[in-house]
Amino acid sequence: MTDLPIIEPFRIKSVEPLRMTTRSEREAALAAADGNLFRIAAEDVLIDLLTDSGTGAMSAEQWAAVMRGDESYAGARSYKRFERAVQDLMGFEQVIPTHQGRAAEHLLFQTLVKPGQVVPNNTHFDTTRANVEDAGGEARDLPCSESANTAGRDPFKGNMNLEALAELLEEEGERVPLVMITLTNNAGGGQPVSLSNLRAVRALCDKYDKPLYIDACRFAENAWMVREREPEARGRSVREIVAETFALADGCTMSAKKDGLANIGGFLALRDLELATAIRRRLVVTEGFPTYGGMAGRDLEAVAQGLAEVVDEDYLQYRHASIAYVAKRLEERGVPVVEPPGGHAIFLDAARFLPHLAPALFPGQALAIELYLEGGLRTCEIGSLMLGRNDEQGRLIPARHELVRLAIPRRTYTQSHMDYVIEIVTRVHARAEGIAGVEILEEPPVLRHFSARMGRVGTARV
Ligand SMILES: *Cc1c(COP(=O)(O)O)cnc(C)c1O
Repeated sequence: MTDLPIIEPFRIKSVEPLRMTTRSEREAALAAADGNLFRIAAEDVLIDLLTDSGTGAMSAEQWAAVMRGDESYAGARSYKRFERAVQDLMGFEQVIPTHQGRAAEHLLFQTLVKPGQVVPNNTHFDTTRANVEDAGGEARDLPCSESANTAGRDPFKGNMNLEALAELLEEEGERVPLVMITLTNNAGGGQPVSLSNLRAVRALCDKYDKPLYIDACRFAENAWMVREREPEARGRSVREIVAETFALADGCTMSAKKDGLANIGGFLALRDLELATAIRRRLVVTEGFPTYGGMAGRDLEAVAQGLAEVVDEDYLQYRHASIAYVAKRLEERGVPVVEPPGGHAIFLDAARFLPHLAPALFPGQALAIELYLEGGLRTCEIGSLMLGRNDEQGRLIPARHELVRLAIPRRTYTQSHMDYVIEIVTRVHARAEGIAGVEILEEPPVLRHFSARMGRVGTARV
């Protein structure tokens, strides 16, 4: 029997038109944006795979919950519902709403991290790193060694490097105020962390008496991949795996723009009342009163409902099948993709896609530009443009990998959109040899990928 086609486990109630563009319109839009896809107007994009953050579609029940939002300043009913949703799912008693994930990180690190301290993590997300550094700390990434090989098929390439964590805690333990672990490992390609790795991290935290916090943005996607890939978890429910995951931690930071299935929102949740009280004192200064934090009542409702929907196994099954489908089709056509596919995105390996371009010619950006020109896809370079540094002589110190991320918004695009994406990538791959490199014409001192002006090497234009 042949497999049934993948179908969305929902039907569409409200539609948003996409604007078709011609190649010459896209060329003009790209030239006006100086080759920087962050500077292109969203209406000039056909399929927007720039990020999966806050770009998902809400369900009918979420929109109904929005109408039920209680906008009372203090003690709103919507806060009670939100608090209960987090407590039921994650088991943390103290629930502190924030406007998005980075505000939760800011509150946690400003309260726990002192200048000169070190925060280990499997891989810090960029805002997490920035918030550790903003508190005067050092953000140290300890990814497992399997993560280095983009073609390797290890099922848990998001894991923490346990030897490196043990060594850090043994040798510099007095400088470590907390241990963080990111589920899934976003900067590492959306790769999952296994339950057994998490248990081993917990055991090290117990041995050295350190609190463990989870960066929980994609907790449901992680739990799904644990269920699919970790033999001991086979047949267990996602809710059970989620409960066990959080039972191993002292608290978490969360961006509801990911697995909260909402367009905005976040929270910090923890067990320690004393610490929660100190954080709430800061919350009132920077975010808002403790029963709404940085959110409107309607957003608290949308997130509470989203947390219930995101652990639905039909939804998770479809999401992962759809992403694996794109990766598999591309691979069959000889396109170099990062294996195995992660939970929220397909990553193209631009170093192998455009082997004639050295890192200083920004192969990831060259590829992202071609995907836009070919079919109006907006993707994101995660390579030497975003993560590379210049040495004193102005020479590039390349990033670890040259990747292009196709992040898939939740419940937003259909399988036929995915087929279109596969076709566009394949067409660009067929003419890869002729694709020229990119040079930076002008760049700001920090976070250059957001605003740099770029051109094709030797031509000063894209
Ligand atoms: C998005 C994200 C954050 C930050 O959340 P925001 O809501 O964008 O502030 C932190 N960690 C990870 C892993 C993320 O993906």
